[in-house]
Amino acid sequence: MRLEENYYALSEGIRKAAEKAGRDPSLVRLVAVSKKQDPEKLRALWNCGQRIFGENRVQEARVKIPEMPSGGEWHFIGGLQTNKAKEAVEWFDVIESVDRLEMAAELQKRAEASGKRLRVYLEVNVGGEAAKHGCAPEKAAELLAQVRPFSRLEVQGLMAIPPFREEPENARPFFRKLREIRDRLEQESGVALPELSMGMSHDYGVAISEGATLVRIGTALFGPRA
Ligand SMILES: *Cc1c(COP(=O)(O)O)cnc(C)c1O
Repeated sequence: MRLEENYYALSEGIRKAAEKAGRDPSLVRLVAVSKKQDPEKLRALWNCGQRIFGENRVQEARVKIPEMPSGGEWHFIGGLQTNKAKEAVEWFDVIESVDRLEMAAELQKRAEASGKRLRVYLEVNVGGEAAKHGCAPEKAAELLAQVRPFSRLEVQGLMAIPPFREEPENARPFFRKLREIRDRLEQESGVALPELSMGMSHDYGVAISEGATLVRIGTALFGPRA
């Protein structure tokens, strides 16, 4: 089956990119971006051993996740309206796209109400693009300071969706920038931020060479989305 071949080829690609960068391949994990994909395909990936899935819409995820075996790790990677926070807390293990105080405050409130703890990453708009989510790089320290006190949220790292570049190598400065922001935040705040979620289907190799610990990949696994 094509999906399975893609999965093994991609796993190999990730491993090779890590080795080429002198990094431990086990420290780079794949988030299978399953938005708009049938649960049947998700289950096929599950049977290959994949456990981390990324979804960008709460409405879609709440239908799909219950159809999957338990024990998976679900990452929310989209823009989150505060009125969806309650359900996001219910279904997801990691919210990768926290980019403002109000969103974090709502997640905290909902997590507290349901007795949960939630891992979160701060999304940074490394390309300064008006159309994209993410806090401005110069606001990341402030956001971290605001989110840290929330007892139900554990900030574990940063996420970015850099501007698309035809030539993946040209996206390198953006990946590097996210890593540098992370390094500086760790130094200044003393908070460990081990996770760097960056790199997609066409540029994950470059992202891994700049320190990605999670690559979020859809198209290279499932083929083009409908
Ligand atoms: C859709 C999406 C991806 C996956 O993109 P592909 O190019 O299909 O690999 C990764 N990250 C986010 C935030 C997405 O929305």
